[in-house]
Amino acid sequence: MPSDRLSKARVAIIGAGVSGLRCADVLLSAGATNVKVFEARDRIGGRVHQIRSSGHLVDLGANWIHSTNANPILQLAHETNTQLFWRPSTQATVGSDGKRRDAKTTATLRERFWAYIDKAHEYSAQHAANIDPETSLMEFIKVTATMEIGQDPDFLRDLLNEAQRYGQFIGNPTSTQSLKFLCMEDEPGGTDAFLANTYRDILGYMAKQVVEKNLVHFGTEIKHMSMETTGEDSSILVETLQGISETFDEVVISCIRMAIENLGYGRLEKLYLTFPTAWWLEKPQDPLATMEDPYPCFTHFHDNAYGKHPPGLPSNVVVISLAHLPDGFAQPTLLFYIHGPCGTKVVQSVETLEPHSDTYNKAIDGFAKPYYSRLANYSDHNSSCKPISHFCSSWQLDPLAGKGSYTNIQTGSTQARKDLETLRDGAGLGESTGLWFVGEHTAPAAYLATVTGAYLSGERVANRILKKWES
Ligand SMILES: Cc1cc2nc3c(=O)[nH]c(=O)nc-3n(C[C@H](O)[C@H](O)[C@H](O)COP(=O)(O)OP(=O)(O)OC[C@H]3O[C@@H](n4cnc5c(N)ncnc54)[C@H](O)[C@@H]3O)c2cc1C
Repeated sequence: MPSDRLSKARVAIIGAGVSGLRCADVLLSAGATNVKVFEARDRIGGRVHQIRSSGHLVDLGANWIHSTNANPILQLAHETNTQLFWRPSTQATVGSDGKRRDAKTTATLRERFWAYIDKAHEYSAQHAANIDPETSLMEFIKVTATMEIGQDPDFLRDLLNEAQRYGQFIGNPTSTQSLKFLCMEDEPGGTDAFLANTYRDILGYMAKQVVEKNLVHFGTEIKHMSMETTGEDSSILVETLQGISETFDEVVISCIRMAIENLGYGRLEKLYLTFPTAWWLEKPQDPLATMEDPYPCFTHFHDNAYGKHPPGLPSNVVVISLAHLPDGFAQPTLLFYIHGPCGTKVVQSVETLEPHSDTYNKAIDGFAKPYYSRLANYSDHNSSCKPISHFCSSWQLDPLAGKGSYTNIQTGSTQARKDLETLRDGAGLGESTGLWFVGEHTAPAAYLATVTGAYLSGERVANRILKKWES
């Protein structure tokens, strides 16, 4: 039975992303009846969002469940019959010279890369207090790799290029990842799973109660909040951009914008190209292909001089073939992960262009073709090799997403641990004033920057609110 007090609590949740939705769901399930969710966009999900690429459903934001050990999102995937595609162990590597490396070299590069990441985590955990805030993960790898394999300059160059792959995980170049705070981002482990039919059903499941009860106020951007105190009682006045105001006892804020200035923020973007057919798998003319794996799902293109990008910007790109998804979900689409300054250049090049217009498609293709034309079976004369749909995300232009992808602790950060704890705890404001912070940026460090982190943060604050009102 919900307590009488709880049913009287007036709760506002700002943002219908994963954290806000989870918070609302836990409160409603416990019997809270006076909950409103304010969302500036005209949709739920925030950075979990799908579009169609030439008719195929694709995720524009999150599409992985990271670290699946004891992960509540994995449970939701099972409940919603979401099709999982476990990260395959094979990968193709195209070196900075534009040539594909053989399978053995690729496997060695990959193993070494992960071994250095493990070493860096260990070093960071043991020496965090003494590491200069300006030292990056890339510097650590450079020093360690040079000592170990300096006598083989070609392999060393490939390995250092391979190390830039970390940028795809953080949305920034590996050379800006803080070594000092790397240990905070240790993950609980478990293979990553790609959601073959996207996050759509999981999102719908999380939002079920909120949507059925019609609690989301769409197109309602919150502009201002102020505390009101009368005697012992305090409440919070929430004002919308449209000038409407309302008073609440508890206000849960999930907007990233206010929180990220002291930490760092990644710039991961996704670019989808859909073709008439998956020509890169059609006939294994590629001398490196095997019968079992005509072409691997992942290709890492090292930083190179052949791509159309300004010199000096790390331009390594990871491309995933969605033709490898399980039967029923496979599509002739290539998903490019682009990050950091290189991603910014691409986004800026199409910023003013109408998506899917000729000029937009031409600009995207100008960037992408130097990469996809190096996949197996490509031919300029084969019409199947010409994309029929081009789309690039632009999270870094979106103020409602904090102008980026997710939190990342960068070089120069001196007190990230303290900043994160303060954010998570809402500087102790919640219990006394009713002001709470949720969102991936307030998640336990191991889940920082992920859907799981956002989900857990919403759950945590909801439970604290319940404790306050049920006592
Ligand atoms: C390109 C990309 C790839 C990613 N890949 C993965 C992945 O594979 N796996 C993974 O786990 N995570 C991934 N993430 C991260 C993941 O998407 C986020 O961590 C998670 O969705 C964040 O949820 P949230 O609730 O904290 O914030 P958000 O989803 O940003 O929700 C905040 C909500 O608040 C709304 N809002 C903002 N300001 C206001 C205002 N003033 N008034 C009212 N409403 C407001 C926003 O519109 C938004 O709906 C990715 C993110 C991006 C951008």
